[in-house]
Amino acid sequence: SDDHRVTRAANLIRTVLDFPKPGIRFRDITPLLGDVDAFGDVIDVMAEHAPANASVVCGVESRGFIFGTPLALRLGLGFVPIRKPGKLPGAVVEQSYDLEYGSTMLAIHTDALHPDDNVLLVDDLLATGGTLQASKRLVEQLGATVAQIQVVLELVGQPGRDSLIADGVQDLFAMI
Ligand code: AMP
Repeated sequence: SDDHRVTRAANLIRTVLDFPKPGIRFRDITPLLGDVDAFGDVIDVMAEHAPANASVVCGVESRGFIFGTPLALRLGLGFVPIRKPGKLPGAVVEQSYDLEYGSTMLAIHTDALHPDDNVLLVDDLLATGGTLQASKRLVEQLGATVAQIQVVLELVGQPGRDSLIADGVQDLFAMI
């Protein structure tokens, strides 16, 4: 069942206090990644919850790549990376977004998506939602549609879910 697989995965995510700075409870997924059965189960559960109309998977650098690429292969779909600035060699569109201190940017190749694409957008973790909001805007700048957002872990008590829903996200699957 989902429950057994999700519980096992949750137990393999380790919370590290005060990393990378004081006050942050960092969720470390590396023990989960190192367990082939649990990692495979996570990709299975994600694939089982994917919308039937998804045409491509977009993953957000860096940990969105770790879950997004095996998910894309499992679904028989291509993978498109959403990257930090200065990494993609071709023509890009960019979105800047606010961090706790300052701001940063994400970029996507302009030829990576087509207007008829229904995107399954993947990251490891949802906190404020800023990263996935910026990623959704990149998808939409290329005329494509976000069919679903999937994250492995949602931090409860953070505004991520509400801000994505306010932004028009209709389908958000958080495994844990
Ligand atoms: P946000 O944009 O606030 O939703 O943050 C999501 C991004 O920051 C994801 O790509 C996460 O990998 C990373 N992140 C934010 N908070 C944490 C945390 N407590 N532990 C691990 N990663 C985090």
